Amino acid sequence: MAQINDNYLKLKTGYLFPEIARRVKEFQDKNPKAELIRLGIGDVVLPLPPSVIKAFHEGVDEMADSRTFRGYGPEQGYPFLIEAIIKNDFQSRGINLKPTEVFVSDGSKCDVGNIQELFGLKTVVAVTDPVYPVYVDTNIMAGRSIIYLPATVENNFDPPLPSQKVDLVYLCSPNNPTGTVMNKSALEKWVDYARKNESIILFDAAYEAFISDASLPHSIYEIEGAKEVAIELRSFSKTAGFTGTRCAYTVVPEEVMAKDSSGKKHPLNPLWLRRQTTKFNGVSYPVQKAAAACYTMEGKKEIKKQIDYTMNNARLILEGLAKAGLQTNGGINAPYIWLKTPQKMDSWNFFDKLLGECHVVGTPGSGFGPSGEGYFRLNAFGFVEKIKEAVHRIQTQLQIEEKL
Ligand SMILES: *Cc1c(COP(=O)(O)O)cnc(C)c1O
Repeated sequence: MAQINDNYLKLKTGYLFPEIARRVKEFQDKNPKAELIRLGIGDVVLPLPPSVIKAFHEGVDEMADSRTFRGYGPEQGYPFLIEAIIKNDFQSRGINLKPTEVFVSDGSKCDVGNIQELFGLKTVVAVTDPVYPVYVDTNIMAGRSIIYLPATVENNFDPPLPSQKVDLVYLCSPNNPTGTVMNKSALEKWVDYARKNESIILFDAAYEAFISDASLPHSIYEIEGAKEVAIELRSFSKTAGFTGTRCAYTVVPEEVMAKDSSGKKHPLNPLWLRRQTTKFNGVSYPVQKAAAACYTMEGKKEIKKQIDYTMNNARLILEGLAKAGLQTNGGINAPYIWLKTPQKMDSWNFFDKLLGECHVVGTPGSGFGPSGEGYFRLNAFGFVEKIKEAVHRIQTQLQIEEKL
């Protein structure tokens, strides 16, 4: 009989969203007339912007004509998309990248999950806690253990540097779930740590498009020296509504190095290229064409309008929760609102309370790691009418005894 990878038995996953679904179903069965508003799962609701759809259609039509049909493309992505990415996302902020440093993929979740394959099993991994569960689970699957760096109200959701030496650290800014954005000095502190300790930073910037404060960095490469120590992940998912269309990219600068078991240094870029060309056959042509349309003048305008729509929702939630007497974080340069449960309530009890009293579904903070206990996540994706209704219900129906 084949033997399983025992590490899979150590996973705590499959718990959070199925448990939410179970509780929601139980509630609906008992209260069939209740109109639920779901602000739990971080998925977008607005359709793909018009210029993206137009390019998508054109791409499909090209596939229908033998003169323009395309089979396998380059595994790392078509040059037209890579060039648009470099010019618009990086050169515009003073960062120069080579086309060979950008790898287009079908999602940041896959990339951030796959990248750990490049590292040895003894690699010491740190994550900020609460955390996007993919960082943790993919390392557990491989058999690594994890160091948690707690991010709480007490440290302003900016965890201190690890007291021991770590080899790999996952940073997510703007953060899912806390909505915190790292400023320049916070990022400098990490780049400096990584350079001193020969660590590598995996910087997840899936939400960079939601930053409106001009002083905040969008890319870790805005920090001097970061190209030597950081890999950056970006996605079209939340930016342009690609969660169901699938396109993202990862930047692996040529300077980023790690050592082999004999201590010899190797650049990671060729290893990632080797991994991708072996295990991945590229993103479909129409999807890459659609992604490239995000960088046209029209595309940029349409995307900005969608982001503004979401961030207006975030503002409504923040204002509403403050009026309801709840303490919040995030929601200003990120589409997530991370609230402190009232009266130190446990996250799941608050979930049940919000569901029972307001018919609003959110995500219990404890699902994102030990330091998420006592917190709760709401997201600002959603139609404004629903958001307004949810906020109204929270203000009028949520029973909080002691207002903050
Ligand atoms: C949504 C999200 C992503 C993007 O995932 P895709 O696979 O590109 O859809 C990446 N990181 C975080 C933290 C996210 O919340």
